[in-house]
Amino acid sequence: MQQVEITKTDEEWRKQLTPEQYAVLREKGTERPFTGKFEDHYEPGIYTCAACGNELFQSATKFDAGCGWPSFYEALDKTKIIEKLDKSHGMMRMEIMCAKCGGHLGHVFNDGPQDKTGLRYCVNSVSLDFKKKDSLGTK
Ligand code: FE
Repeated sequence: MQQVEITKTDEEWRKQLTPEQYAVLREKGTERPFTGKFEDHYEPGIYTCAACGNELFQSATKFDAGCGWPSFYEALDKTKIIEKLDKSHGMMRMEIMCAKCGGHLGHVFNDGPQDKTGLRYCVNSVSLDFKKKDSLGTK
């Protein structure tokens, strides 16, 4: 895997993250659909990595994909996310990870809005935090 900026031991991550966050971010788990705090969340702001604060997605690119997980048609910046082919569970999927800490976010699929990028970044709520637009200063 591409070298990430933040490297911590499993023990350090366990101390920092909740058990749910650890299971998804570090062990590539998946939260149950329609259970995440950001699944139906449409406030203006920026979604960040729950593990390291890296700014990942803008609220303007979030859309309701009906799949039960927060979905975005574009990353805030291509350098923010690492993509890696994932052949687990008998599927060919493209895994997405935070480029700063290597935390597992979810997968990116080619069934996003055709009038935008055609992509769907399908992300676990557990992997995300949110910064409201009001708290972003000049952004
Ligand atoms: Fe991160």
